Amino acid sequence: MLWRMTEGFKQGCFRIGLNRLLSRCVNLPIILCFHRITPPSSSFFDRRLEAIAPQQFEWILSYVGAMGYRFVPLEKMHADIQESRLLREAVVTFDDGFRDQYENAYPVLKRWRIPATLFLITSTVDATSLLWLHKLYILLGHMDAQEAQAAVKDYVGREHAGLSFYEAVRRVVCSPDRARMHRFIDGLAQRLGWTSEEEARWARQVYLTSEQIRVMRDNGVAVESHGHEHLPVDSVSPADIRRDILQSTSWIEEHLGYRARFFGYPFGFVSPVSVQVLRELGCVGACTTEHRPLRAGEDPFALPRVYRDGDHRARFAWRFSGFYLGAMRERLFR
Ligand SMILES: [Zn+2]
Repeated sequence: MLWRMTEGFKQGCFRIGLNRLLSRCVNLPIILCFHRITPPSSSFFDRRLEAIAPQQFEWILSYVGAMGYRFVPLEKMHADIQESRLLREAVVTFDDGFRDQYENAYPVLKRWRIPATLFLITSTVDATSLLWLHKLYILLGHMDAQEAQAAVKDYVGREHAGLSFYEAVRRVVCSPDRARMHRFIDGLAQRLGWTSEEEARWARQVYLTSEQIRVMRDNGVAVESHGHEHLPVDSVSPADIRRDILQSTSWIEEHLGYRARFFGYPFGFVSPVSVQVLRELGCVGACTTEHRPLRAGEDPFALPRVYRDGDHRARFAWRFSGFYLGAMRERLFR
Protein backbone atom coordinates (compact mmCIF):
# COMPACT_ATOMS: atom_id res chain seq x y z
CA MET A 1 0.00 0.00 0.00
CA LEU A 2 2.72 2.42 1.05
CA TRP A 3 4.76 1.46 -1.97
CA ARG A 4 1.78 2.11 -4.22
CA MET A 5 1.24 5.54 -2.66
CA THR A 6 4.91 6.47 -3.11
CA GLU A 7 4.84 5.32 -6.73
CA GLY A 8 1.64 7.29 -7.28
CA PHE A 9 3.17 10.40 -5.76
CA LYS A 10 6.23 10.08 -7.97
CA GLN A 11 4.07 9.61 -11.07
CA GLY A 12 1.99 12.60 -10.02
CA CYS A 13 5.01 14.88 -9.59
CA PHE A 14 6.20 13.85 -13.00
CA ARG A 15 2.78 14.54 -14.55
CA ILE A 16 2.33 17.99 -13.06
CA GLY A 17 5.81 18.95 -14.22
CA LEU A 18 7.37 19.42 -10.78
CA ASN A 19 10.66 18.26 -12.23
CA ARG A 20 10.55 20.93 -14.86
CA LEU A 21 9.72 23.59 -12.32
CA LEU A 22 12.67 22.54 -10.17
CA SER A 23 14.95 22.48 -13.17
CA ARG A 24 14.43 26.22 -13.58
CA CYS A 25 15.81 26.86 -10.11
CA VAL A 26 19.25 25.28 -10.25
CA ASN A 27 21.80 24.54 -12.93
CA LEU A 28 23.80 21.45 -12.19
CA PRO A 29 25.86 19.60 -14.76
CA ILE A 30 25.30 15.85 -14.93
CA ILE A 31 27.20 12.92 -16.38
CA LEU A 32 24.91 10.09 -17.41
CA CYS A 33 26.21 6.54 -17.11
CA PHE A 34 24.92 3.66 -19.26
CA HIS A 35 25.88 0.05 -19.70
CA ARG A 36 24.00 -2.27 -22.05
CA ILE A 37 21.40 -0.84 -24.41
CA THR A 38 19.35 -3.84 -25.40
CA PRO A 39 15.86 -5.15 -24.59
CA PRO A 40 16.44 -6.40 -21.03
CA SER A 41 15.82 -10.03 -20.22
CA SER A 42 15.63 -11.59 -16.79
CA SER A 43 19.11 -13.08 -17.22
CA PHE A 44 21.62 -12.42 -14.47
CA PHE A 45 24.03 -10.93 -17.03
CA ASP A 46 21.45 -8.38 -18.25
CA ARG A 47 20.42 -7.47 -14.74
CA ARG A 48 23.98 -7.01 -13.48
CA LEU A 49 24.89 -4.95 -16.55
CA GLU A 50 21.82 -2.75 -16.14
CA ALA A 51 20.46 -3.46 -19.61
CA ILE A 52 17.87 -0.96 -20.78
CA ALA A 53 15.74 -1.05 -23.91
CA PRO A 54 16.78 1.25 -26.78
CA GLN A 55 13.43 3.10 -26.44
CA GLN A 56 14.18 3.68 -22.76
CA PHE A 57 17.61 5.07 -23.66
CA GLU A 58 16.05 7.43 -26.17
CA TRP A 59 13.44 8.48 -23.64
CA ILE A 60 16.11 9.35 -21.02
CA LEU A 61 18.00 11.50 -23.52
CA SER A 62 14.83 13.29 -24.61
CA TYR A 63 13.80 13.78 -20.97
CA VAL A 64 17.17 15.29 -20.06
CA GLY A 65 17.00 17.47 -23.19
CA ALA A 66 13.47 18.59 -22.28
CA MET A 67 14.79 19.67 -18.88
CA GLY A 68 16.84 22.28 -20.72
CA TYR A 69 20.14 20.41 -20.78
CA ARG A 70 22.67 20.75 -23.56
CA PHE A 71 24.68 17.63 -24.38
CA VAL A 72 28.40 18.37 -24.47
CA PRO A 73 31.61 16.33 -24.70
CA LEU A 74 33.24 15.36 -21.39
CA GLU A 75 36.23 17.49 -22.34
CA LYS A 76 34.00 20.61 -22.48
CA MET A 77 32.37 19.89 -19.13
CA HIS A 78 35.78 19.28 -17.60
CA ALA A 79 36.95 22.70 -18.85
CA ASP A 80 33.82 24.36 -17.40
CA ILE A 81 34.32 22.70 -14.03
CA GLN A 82 37.96 23.78 -13.97
CA GLU A 83 36.83 27.37 -14.45
CA SER A 84 34.02 27.02 -11.88
CA ARG A 85 31.27 27.34 -14.49
CA LEU A 86 28.23 25.32 -13.45
CA LEU A 87 26.06 25.06 -16.54
CA ARG A 88 23.00 23.01 -17.39
CA GLU A 89 25.07 20.55 -19.39
CA ALA A 90 24.87 16.79 -19.70
CA VAL A 91 27.51 14.29 -20.76
CA VAL A 92 26.61 10.80 -22.02
CA THR A 93 28.99 8.01 -20.99
CA PHE A 94 28.96 4.25 -21.61
CA ASP A 95 30.95 1.71 -19.67
CA ASP A 96 32.67 -1.50 -20.76
CA GLY A 97 32.18 -1.61 -24.55
CA PHE A 98 29.28 -3.80 -25.64
CA ARG A 99 28.20 -4.44 -29.19
CA ASP A 100 24.67 -3.26 -28.38
CA GLN A 101 26.10 0.17 -27.55
CA TYR A 102 27.19 0.35 -31.19
CA GLU A 103 24.05 -1.23 -32.61
CA ASN A 104 21.40 0.45 -30.46
CA ALA A 105 22.82 3.59 -28.82
CA TYR A 106 25.27 4.93 -31.37
CA PRO A 107 22.61 5.39 -34.15
CA VAL A 108 20.52 7.49 -31.72
CA LEU A 109 23.52 9.61 -30.74
CA LYS A 110 24.43 10.07 -34.39
CA ARG A 111 20.88 11.02 -35.40
CA TRP A 112 20.62 13.60 -32.62
CA ARG A 113 24.27 14.66 -32.87
CA ILE A 114 24.89 13.97 -29.22
CA PRO A 115 28.56 13.56 -28.27
CA ALA A 116 29.46 10.73 -25.89
CA THR A 117 32.34 9.02 -24.12
CA LEU A 118 32.89 5.28 -24.11
CA PHE A 119 34.92 3.94 -21.19
CA LEU A 120 36.29 0.83 -22.82
CA ILE A 121 37.62 -2.39 -21.25
CA THR A 122 40.38 -2.77 -23.79
CA SER A 123 40.93 -6.54 -23.39
CA THR A 124 37.41 -7.25 -24.68
CA VAL A 125 37.85 -5.72 -28.15
CA ASP A 126 37.71 -8.41 -30.89
CA ALA A 127 37.94 -10.93 -28.04
CA THR A 128 37.25 -14.63 -28.48
CA SER A 129 36.96 -15.21 -24.75
CA LEU A 130 34.94 -13.46 -22.08
CA LEU A 131 36.18 -11.04 -19.46
CA TRP A 132 36.32 -12.89 -16.12
CA LEU A 133 33.52 -10.75 -14.68
CA HIS A 134 31.11 -11.25 -17.58
CA LYS A 135 31.93 -14.95 -17.70
CA LEU A 136 30.99 -15.25 -14.03
CA TYR A 137 27.68 -13.43 -14.56
CA ILE A 138 26.78 -15.45 -17.66
CA LEU A 139 27.66 -18.78 -16.04
CA LEU A 140 25.69 -18.02 -12.88
CA GLY A 141 22.75 -17.05 -15.07
CA HIS A 142 22.93 -20.41 -16.83
CA MET A 143 22.72 -22.34 -13.59
CA ASP A 144 19.66 -23.32 -11.70
CA ALA A 145 19.05 -20.50 -9.16
CA GLN A 146 19.52 -22.74 -6.10
CA GLU A 147 22.61 -24.35 -7.54
CA ALA A 148 24.12 -20.91 -8.29
CA GLN A 149 23.38 -19.71 -4.77
CA ALA A 150 24.91 -22.79 -3.21
CA ALA A 151 28.08 -22.46 -5.32
CA VAL A 152 28.55 -18.78 -4.45
CA LYS A 153 27.82 -19.28 -0.75
CA ASP A 154 30.22 -22.19 -0.67
CA TYR A 155 32.90 -19.90 -2.13
CA VAL A 156 32.37 -17.05 0.33
CA GLY A 157 32.24 -19.43 3.31
CA ARG A 158 29.84 -20.24 6.12
CA GLU A 159 30.66 -17.08 8.08
CA HIS A 160 28.97 -15.07 5.31
CA ALA A 161 25.96 -17.37 4.98
CA GLY A 162 23.61 -14.48 5.80
CA LEU A 163 24.57 -12.44 2.74
CA SER A 164 22.09 -11.99 -0.10
CA PHE A 165 22.99 -13.61 -3.41
CA TYR A 166 23.99 -10.24 -4.89
CA GLU A 167 26.22 -9.39 -1.93
CA ALA A 168 27.81 -12.82 -2.04
CA VAL A 169 28.52 -12.47 -5.78
CA ARG A 170 30.10 -9.11 -5.06
CA ARG A 171 32.41 -10.80 -2.56
CA VAL A 172 33.45 -13.29 -5.22
CA VAL A 173 34.14 -10.45 -7.69
CA CYS A 174 36.21 -8.51 -5.14
CA SER A 175 38.10 -11.56 -3.91
CA PRO A 176 41.64 -10.66 -2.87
CA ASP A 177 42.74 -14.19 -3.86
CA ARG A 178 42.43 -13.67 -7.62
CA ALA A 179 43.83 -17.11 -8.51
CA ARG A 180 41.19 -18.82 -6.36
CA MET A 181 38.46 -16.69 -7.96
CA HIS A 182 39.61 -17.62 -11.47
CA ARG A 183 39.66 -21.31 -10.49
CA PHE A 184 36.11 -20.91 -9.19
CA ILE A 185 34.91 -19.40 -12.50
CA ASP A 186 36.68 -22.13 -14.50
CA GLY A 187 35.07 -24.72 -12.22
CA LEU A 188 31.59 -23.32 -12.99
CA ALA A 189 32.34 -23.48 -16.72
CA GLN A 190 33.41 -27.11 -16.39
CA ARG A 191 30.34 -27.95 -14.37
CA LEU A 192 28.13 -26.55 -17.14
CA GLY A 193 30.18 -28.28 -19.84
CA TRP A 194 31.06 -24.96 -21.48
CA THR A 195 33.34 -25.29 -24.48
CA SER A 196 35.79 -22.65 -25.72
CA GLU A 197 33.64 -22.38 -28.90
CA GLU A 198 30.63 -21.50 -26.82
CA GLU A 199 32.59 -18.84 -24.95
CA ALA A 200 33.92 -17.43 -28.24
CA ARG A 201 30.36 -17.26 -29.57
CA TRP A 202 29.31 -15.25 -26.52
CA ALA A 203 32.32 -12.95 -26.82
CA ARG A 204 31.57 -12.23 -30.48
CA GLN A 205 27.95 -11.62 -29.62
CA VAL A 206 28.50 -9.14 -26.78
CA TYR A 207 31.77 -7.27 -27.41
CA LEU A 208 32.70 -4.50 -29.82
CA THR A 209 35.08 -4.97 -32.71
CA SER A 210 37.96 -2.57 -33.32
CA GLU A 211 36.23 -1.51 -36.55
CA GLN A 212 33.04 -0.54 -34.70
CA ILE A 213 35.12 1.40 -32.18
CA ARG A 214 36.89 3.30 -34.95
CA VAL A 215 33.55 4.19 -36.58
CA MET A 216 32.26 5.57 -33.29
CA ARG A 217 35.51 7.44 -32.61
CA ASP A 218 35.20 9.12 -36.02
CA ASN A 219 31.61 10.17 -35.29
CA GLY A 220 31.55 11.95 -31.96
CA VAL A 221 32.27 9.18 -29.46
CA ALA A 222 35.44 9.74 -27.44
CA VAL A 223 36.89 6.35 -26.53
CA GLU A 224 38.62 6.44 -23.14
CA SER A 225 40.02 3.91 -20.70
CA HIS A 226 38.07 1.69 -18.32
CA GLY A 227 41.12 -0.47 -17.56
CA HIS A 228 42.32 -3.53 -19.45
CA GLU A 229 40.74 -6.21 -17.28
CA HIS A 230 38.28 -4.32 -15.12
CA LEU A 231 40.10 -4.98 -11.84
CA PRO A 232 38.52 -4.10 -8.48
CA VAL A 233 41.21 -1.72 -7.24
CA ASP A 234 40.68 -2.38 -3.55
CA SER A 235 41.35 -6.12 -4.03
CA VAL A 236 44.51 -6.08 -6.15
CA SER A 237 48.06 -4.82 -5.60
CA PRO A 238 49.15 -1.29 -6.59
CA ALA A 239 51.53 -2.90 -9.12
CA ASP A 240 48.59 -4.67 -10.78
CA ILE A 241 46.54 -1.45 -10.90
CA ARG A 242 49.44 0.35 -12.56
CA ARG A 243 50.01 -2.44 -15.08
CA ASP A 244 46.31 -2.64 -15.94
CA ILE A 245 45.91 1.12 -16.55
CA LEU A 246 49.11 1.20 -18.61
CA GLN A 247 47.99 -1.75 -20.74
CA SER A 248 44.68 -0.07 -21.40
CA THR A 249 46.01 3.39 -22.27
CA SER A 250 48.73 1.82 -24.49
CA TRP A 251 45.99 -0.07 -26.35
CA ILE A 252 44.14 3.18 -27.00
CA GLU A 253 47.28 4.89 -28.21
CA GLU A 254 48.23 2.02 -30.49
CA HIS A 255 44.78 1.32 -31.97
CA LEU A 256 43.14 4.74 -31.94
CA GLY A 257 46.14 7.02 -32.28
CA TYR A 258 45.76 9.28 -29.27
CA ARG A 259 46.49 9.36 -25.56
CA ALA A 260 43.60 8.71 -23.21
CA ARG A 261 42.42 11.85 -21.39
CA PHE A 262 39.83 10.34 -19.07
CA PHE A 263 39.31 7.17 -17.09
CA GLY A 264 36.21 5.36 -15.85
CA TYR A 265 37.05 3.56 -12.60
CA PRO A 266 36.08 -0.12 -12.83
CA PHE A 267 33.22 -0.69 -10.33
CA GLY A 268 33.50 3.03 -9.59
CA PHE A 269 36.29 2.43 -7.03
CA VAL A 270 38.76 5.28 -6.71
CA SER A 271 42.22 4.63 -5.29
CA PRO A 272 45.16 6.99 -4.69
CA VAL A 273 47.36 4.69 -6.83
CA SER A 274 44.97 4.95 -9.79
CA VAL A 275 44.87 8.73 -9.52
CA GLN A 276 48.66 8.92 -9.33
CA VAL A 277 49.12 6.68 -12.39
CA LEU A 278 46.47 8.57 -14.36
CA ARG A 279 48.13 11.89 -13.59
CA GLU A 280 51.52 10.53 -14.64
CA LEU A 281 50.02 9.41 -17.94
CA GLY A 282 48.61 12.87 -18.64
CA CYS A 283 44.94 12.06 -17.97
CA VAL A 284 42.92 15.05 -16.77
CA GLY A 285 39.92 13.44 -15.09
CA ALA A 286 38.08 10.28 -14.10
CA CYS A 287 34.51 9.20 -13.42
CA THR A 288 33.17 7.24 -10.46
CA THR A 289 29.70 5.75 -10.00
CA GLU A 290 28.77 8.05 -7.14
CA HIS A 291 25.15 8.86 -7.94
CA ARG A 292 24.74 12.64 -7.98
CA PRO A 293 25.19 15.70 -10.20
CA LEU A 294 28.39 17.75 -10.26
CA ARG A 295 28.95 20.57 -7.80
CA ALA A 296 31.24 23.57 -7.60
CA GLY A 297 34.85 22.68 -6.83
CA GLU A 298 34.43 19.08 -7.97
CA ASP A 299 37.60 16.93 -7.93
CA PRO A 300 38.22 16.16 -11.63
CA PHE A 301 39.51 12.70 -10.64
CA ALA A 302 36.30 11.78 -8.80
CA LEU A 303 33.49 12.95 -11.08
CA PRO A 304 30.09 11.57 -10.02
CA ARG A 305 27.58 10.18 -12.50
CA VAL A 306 23.85 9.67 -12.77
CA TYR A 307 22.54 6.29 -13.80
CA ARG A 308 19.19 4.77 -14.39
CA ASP A 309 17.56 3.19 -11.37
CA GLY A 310 15.23 0.37 -12.28
CA ASP A 311 13.09 0.25 -15.37
CA HIS A 312 10.51 2.90 -14.54
CA ARG A 313 10.62 6.21 -16.28
CA ALA A 314 8.90 7.90 -13.37
CA ARG A 315 11.59 6.56 -11.03
CA PHE A 316 14.36 8.06 -13.17
CA ALA A 317 12.47 11.38 -13.27
CA TRP A 318 11.96 11.23 -9.52
CA ARG A 319 15.62 10.64 -8.74
CA PHE A 320 16.49 13.36 -11.18
CA SER A 321 14.24 15.81 -9.35
CA GLY A 322 15.77 14.68 -6.06
CA PHE A 323 19.07 16.13 -7.20
CA TYR A 324 17.42 19.49 -7.57
CA LEU A 325 15.80 19.37 -4.18
CA GLY A 326 19.20 18.48 -2.66
CA ALA A 327 20.94 21.21 -4.63
CA MET A 328 18.34 23.82 -3.69
CA ARG A 329 18.67 22.90 -0.03
CA GLU A 330 22.43 23.27 -0.30
CA ARG A 331 22.11 26.68 -1.91
CA LEU A 332 19.47 28.00 0.44
CA PHE A 333 21.04 26.86 3.68
CA ARG A 334 24.70 27.17 2.94
ZN1 LIG B 1 32.58 -1.44 -15.95
